[in-house]
Amino acid sequence: MHLNPYGEDAVNLAADLANRRPASAGELSERCRAAGLLVDRPVSQRDLEKTWATLDAWEKVVDTTDEHERAELVNRMLAAAAAYPRLTDHAGDGWHLHYRGEQQPFGSVLFSLISVGTALHLAGRGMHRLRRCAVAECATIFADTSRTGRQRYCSQRCANRDAVRRHRARTAP
Ligand SMILES: [Zn+2]
Ligand SMILES: [Zn+2]
Repeated sequence: MHLNPYGEDAVNLAADLANRRPASAGELSERCRAAGLLVDRPVSQRDLEKTWATLDAWEKVVDTTDEHERAELVNRMLAAAAAYPRLTDHAGDGWHLHYRGEQQPFGSVLFSLISVGTALHLAGRGMHRLRRCAVAECATIFADTSRTGRQRYCSQRCANRDAVRRHRARTAP
C-alpha cells in the first residue's frame, strides 16, 4: 500500500507528525506505517532529524497566510526535493508514480512525499486549506478537506468549545 499524494493522506500525515513530533526513529517508522505508508527501508536517527527539519519548513508553510508567500515556501521545498517523477511497480501491487529516486533514505522519501502532497493539496483544493485550529490555545494543524473549505477548527470538540465561549461572551452581564 502506498500513500497517494493526490489524496489527502500525505498532507494529513504531515499534520499528524507536526502536531505530535516523533521522538525516535522507531516511532517515526511506526506512525508512517500506521498512516498507510509502505516503509520498505530502515529508518535511522538521521532520517528522524531530516524529518524534524522537514516539519520545521512545513510549519512555516502552515503559518503563512499570504498565498504568494505560501506558494514560494512550498516551491522551495519542491526544489529541494526535486526529482523527476517516475513510474514504478516496486511492490508488485500496481503501477504508480514516485516523485523521487529509488535509492534515497527514508527521510528524503518522506520529505518528497510531504512537499508534493502539500503542493497537490493546495493546488487541487485551495491555497487557504491548511491552517491551525481557531482556538488559540489548541493550535493543532489540519488540512481542510471539507466540502465548503471553511473549516476553522481541528475537531468538533474545539468547535463546541469556541461556540460555548462565544455564547458566554454574548450573554455576559
Ligand atoms: Zn510506492
Ligand atoms: Zn483545536
